[in-house]
Amino acid sequence: MMPSLPVVIRCPKCGNQMKKQVLYSGNTFGAACYTDGKMEAPMLPELPQITKCPACKELFWIDEAEEVGEYFPMPLLPGEKEFPSVRFLSITDYDKALRRNLSRNTEDELYLRRQLWWKFNDRVRRGKPLVNSPREETIWKTNLALLEGILDDNDPEQRIMKAEVLRHLGFFLLASTKLEFVRDEQYKQVVDIIKQACKEQKTEVLKVEDN
Ligand SMILES: [Zn+2]
Repeated sequence: MMPSLPVVIRCPKCGNQMKKQVLYSGNTFGAACYTDGKMEAPMLPELPQITKCPACKELFWIDEAEEVGEYFPMPLLPGEKEFPSVRFLSITDYDKALRRNLSRNTEDELYLRRQLWWKFNDRVRRGKPLVNSPREETIWKTNLALLEGILDDNDPEQRIMKAEVLRHLGFFLLASTKLEFVRDEQYKQVVDIIKQACKEQKTEVLKVEDN
């Protein structure tokens, strides 16, 4: 991983300064891939596209924030605080961003809904329960139903994701049928795992491979 210096950005609402990491090269060595399409690559970490200002709690798209300049680590003077790093949103905040219609286009909505889905699945990836309350279950289910609606059947990766969403919701036959039309050799492994999981009526996210 070759990170360049972080860039300082300003919250569009209150002007609070934060640092965002910039990555200009990396690799997928040691990466883990999952059936929901998430890849966790230690040498190529994903960077957030939307964040929350720790000072005023505003949710904003990072590409819309003003860039102040490169961040140089300096010794802090008494009373000075280190700039906080931009962070990924929580389940509650992704849901809030969607309910407030912060998506500027379908691509943004797809991003927010996929991130929200992955955020729930991250718990399962860490051996924790998927949902912790009936309210969370509603958020989870509503999100998957709407995500299914915007995924594009003509794109093989989105089609696989759609099958995964259907499997997560317990529609095993529909999920398997969707996968009949994904014939590309490069997706064979993930397609076989999802089909097998449908046969076994499993709804949780599964690991595909370790690189
Ligand atoms: Zn702010």
